[in-house]
Amino acid sequence: MTTQAEAPLRIKLHASDNVAVIVNEGGLPKGTLFDDGLTLREDVPQAHKVALCDIAAGEAVVRYGVPIGFAVEDIACGSWVTEARLRMPPSPRLADLRYHPQDFPACEPLTGFSFEGYRNEDGSVGTRNILAIGTCVQCVGGVADYVVNRIRQELLPRYPHVDEVLAVQHIYGCGVAIDAPGAHIPIHTLHNILRNPNFGAMPLLLSLGCEKLPPEKLFPATAGFPQPASICLQDESLMGFDGMVDAILQQAASHLEKLDQRRRVTCPASALRVGMQCGGSDAFSGITANPALGKAADLIVQAGGTVFFSEVTEVRDGVERIVARAASQEVFDALVREMAWYDAYLDRGGVDRSANTTPGNKQGGLNNITEKTMGSFVKSGSSPIVGVVAPGERLPEQCRGLYYVATPASDFVCGTLQVAAGMNVHVFSTGRGTPYGLREVPVIKVSTRDALARRWHDLVDFNAGGIATGRMSIDEAGMTLFQMILDVAGGTKKPCSDVLGLYNSLALFNPAPIT
Ligand code: CA
Repeated sequence: MTTQAEAPLRIKLHASDNVAVIVNEGGLPKGTLFDDGLTLREDVPQAHKVALCDIAAGEAVVRYGVPIGFAVEDIACGSWVTEARLRMPPSPRLADLRYHPQDFPACEPLTGFSFEGYRNEDGSVGTRNILAIGTCVQCVGGVADYVVNRIRQELLPRYPHVDEVLAVQHIYGCGVAIDAPGAHIPIHTLHNILRNPNFGAMPLLLSLGCEKLPPEKLFPATAGFPQPASICLQDESLMGFDGMVDAILQQAASHLEKLDQRRRVTCPASALRVGMQCGGSDAFSGITANPALGKAADLIVQAGGTVFFSEVTEVRDGVERIVARAASQEVFDALVREMAWYDAYLDRGGVDRSANTTPGNKQGGLNNITEKTMGSFVKSGSSPIVGVVAPGERLPEQCRGLYYVATPASDFVCGTLQVAAGMNVHVFSTGRGTPYGLREVPVIKVSTRDALARRWHDLVDFNAGGIATGRMSIDEAGMTLFQMILDVAGGTKKPCSDVLGLYNSLALFNPAPIT
């Protein structure tokens, strides 16, 4: 007897699609008969695609209404559409793109949503109250970790309104071509990480003394942000390791004193600055989790807030759809400029965007980067794109709406650049499963399917899998996620990564030479 849950289920997203994705856990065996008469000619794993009609060699395989590849052989109706049966389409040429001005319908304002946040003098809002210890160079990293442990154990209990202390660790600062083209990216990234709203504009800086990136280069007078208090380990007045540590603890205590005065106050949802990302994606990412993220993104924008979407190799194949949402010629030009820069960067490395997909993506039913892209950029929702943030730069506080923050798709590099751009909540979708977490900004993890959410019940914050089985709509999932973002921003809900204390290291993007 076949129960409702066991009935064969497939999802076709667009009317013109000639493939559908198998929903059933464990996949479906050869001979499976669907209600409409479609019969599987071979076993098809979960999340993989079945041909809905005969597709002749050379014809387009269409998913999301776009060709995700061309058949290299005849694919009979009911067959498993594997990577080997597809030739990847070429990436759209940037030179062929044109800007077409259009009037976007005014978005319906969403009012009445708020969270309790930490207001900063520059108008930004923190979702956490953290003492950040910046490092000018990797050489001071061991000392930074040592003092963070001491501060956590000895000082933090005395300052109950401070959530956390952390060191911003990296491998930059010396042994690098500090004036090379592209070096501004890691330098600006470090500068802007330390200005993240969660650090209350009060970072403390550790320098060595002989590095190429001293405090005055990391915080130049022209940056419009005062140079933070810093301790130089080579300072001749500091005697031995104990001398260094005492000086740092003393300075840290004075920062903690000030941070401890801060209190959460009610802030409108427009103070949200949410970074959307995905990692460990599967073929459900574009059906369940990412559309839910997209709906939440639309709600944040409607509420007057800000959303970042990123991951250049995962938007590149969808560039025609992306630039069609550019709010102005200037935004169109900036989108094309960032994509062209990245094309050239990959070209120098002798690869193209197809180097993005992982073995796990392919096991999860994603045949190539074109298919992955079409499911990835739906995280951005449907709002017009009102601006572009170059890698390492910070979005000024007065800017609101949907922004493309140009970053690589690497989870850690993307997250790092979104921290630098000023995000205060991070939303991360996954289909294969990753325990991703950041100490700097709370991370909400969203599962694409039920099986992952069951197995990783204590690692996943929100399961969008019900969208595939019809248990919930994309709109319902988006609204629930939006509410969860507000709860996490306000500190009333701790995401799993914070409960478990799972934190990844930040990773700088440095396209310039190491010396
Ligand atoms: Ca990613």
